[in-house]
Amino acid sequence: MSNITVCARFRPLNSREKQNDNNSVCIRCRDSETFIFKDEKDEESVFSFDRVFYEQSEQADVYQFLALPMVRDVVDGYNGTIITYGQTGAGKTYSMEGSGILECGEQKKGLLPRIVEGIFDSLNSSDEKKTYSINLSMVEIYMEKVRDLFDLSKVNIQIKESKSRGIFLPGVTEITVLDPVEALQNLSKGIANRTVGETQMNMASSRSHCIYIFTIQQEFSRDKRTRFGKLILVDLAGSEKVEKTGAEGRVLDEAKTINKSLSALGNVINSLTCGLQGKTSHIPYRDSKLTRILQDALGGNARTALLCCCSPSAFNASESLSTLRFGARAKHI
Ligand code: ADP
Ligand code: MG
Repeated sequence: MSNITVCARFRPLNSREKQNDNNSVCIRCRDSETFIFKDEKDEESVFSFDRVFYEQSEQADVYQFLALPMVRDVVDGYNGTIITYGQTGAGKTYSMEGSGILECGEQKKGLLPRIVEGIFDSLNSSDEKKTYSINLSMVEIYMEKVRDLFDLSKVNIQIKESKSRGIFLPGVTEITVLDPVEALQNLSKGIANRTVGETQMNMASSRSHCIYIFTIQQEFSRDKRTRFGKLILVDLAGSEKVEKTGAEGRVLDEAKTINKSLSALGNVINSLTCGLQGKTSHIPYRDSKLTRILQDALGGNARTALLCCCSPSAFNASESLSTLRFGARAKHI
């Protein structure tokens, strides 16, 4: 069994795509794992993933398939990572947060609030008597600098590694949350800080990676055994190729930095999945801040889920194809 799950998700056409492009779409569903993709030259190719979520898919389906098994693993003491990948506007944040994290209603609720509830449910439902604590951190990587979204004065957090703690971020704010409501209120503050950052520094959220870190510590009453699990969620920067549009200056620098870290992520996932074949290869975690932070939540016996978010519009076919290729490459084992 592979420990990476790769899924594709197509959001509904938006109004611009309906108007500009006569509703024309670039995919044809075959089944829940396979679809036919038509590129800009009308050439067709077949893609298969662990699961494909089409336009009518529910947020709850995505949670059930992609996140729930991971929530259980993390409570069992393993590490895991859930990553949303895709061009800006493809549905990464909608999948991760929903439309607004606090009050968007049951149907539109994204992975994050469902995961928070899942973690508490899972911890509270087990028979074994124990104490536990759940800690939350939220950071953003912009231009290869790690910013603390719970404390905006911390603008260049370092990444360290130790035997006892694995990868950690010295000095990063860790908030202990006692129930789902408290967790969501804090996450919502972190998300709001991201927006403040945007206007102050003219930084669009699509130009940075947003990282949510949940650490779960448990101590069992019977034998004082402890258990530690870490779940990281990553809402990646947009994968669109800005260079092609003739961007200059800061926008071009941002695009180059993003492309570098996204290809570092692709390389790390690829080396990990190749390693499963028995080949021993060097895993280039240190090539970007992103892969370094994710090191112990991607490697070892950690579980990874990649959600490749795409527009179904023929208008965006070339960006969607590049997203699907990233996913297919991650899946190739
Ligand atoms: P990204 O984070 O990838 O840039 P967003 O998640 O912000 O993109 O999505 C862009 C727009 O499309 C938002 O208005 C969002 O609400 C909408 N959207 C995305 N995915 C879906 C979906 N599966 N169902 C309905 N609306 C969606
Ligand atoms: Mg977004």
